[in-house]
Amino acid sequence: MTEQAFELLRRVRYVFYPRRCALCGKVVAPTQEICSACKASAHRVPMPICPYCGCGRKDCACDKHRSRFAAAFASPFYYEGCVREGIRRLKFHAEPEIAEALGREMASFARQAYAGVRFDVVTFVPMTRREKRDRRYNQSELLAASAAKALLLPCVPTLEKLYETRRQRTLDHRRRSGNVFGVFEVIDPKSIEGRRILLCDDLRTTGATLTECAKMLRIRGAREVLCLTAAVGYPKRERSGKDEIQ
Ligand SMILES: [Zn+2]
Ligand SMILES: [Zn+2]
Repeated sequence: MTEQAFELLRRVRYVFYPRRCALCGKVVAPTQEICSACKASAHRVPMPICPYCGCGRKDCACDKHRSRFAAAFASPFYYEGCVREGIRRLKFHAEPEIAEALGREMASFARQAYAGVRFDVVTFVPMTRREKRDRRYNQSELLAASAAKALLLPCVPTLEKLYETRRQRTLDHRRRSGNVFGVFEVIDPKSIEGRRILLCDDLRTTGATLTECAKMLRIRGAREVLCLTAAVGYPKRERSGKDEIQ
């Protein structure tokens, strides 16, 4: 197909299926993914970031407690405003295409935050079969697939979720590690042995879920696990306990 024909097809398609901003859902030009209002208002995590919590160093309020299993956390956005809205639509309103744009943002942030790290594989926080059937997709898997594509890396399911847990957001922060303890298992330890893994999820608040996944990957032989999420809870909000995750 010629370039002009392709362009024409794209415009015709746009008339019937207008492209929408990945975050707020407003109609945007066919070449845009995120509208200019959201681009301007999205609360980006400023570099340099704190590797312990993934927040900008200037915003960080963490106790600098290094996880023995997850080497670092990084996210392009704080879970605020239009980004919060976009992630909620992705999770609760069956709009999987939002993951495309967010995954690409995650990839370009990972290139800066994890510059010089050579990952072998991208993976994601799994759901149980029933959870996935209910939502029809796993948003973490979609984000990981989009990020992996942009980073030219394979996206591989490495973990399974053995049983359902209470939603992390319904629990106070101290109970969250216990809620996910022992919930995940590695599908095939051989496939991760000695590998440097980029572990993706939609959101990090306490990091309990990611740390538990990273723990299993490390125990089963992964060399290193670094985490990448679309958003991280803004530290001040996290302290006031108003965040919502999962
Ligand atoms: Zn928008
Ligand atoms: Zn920190």
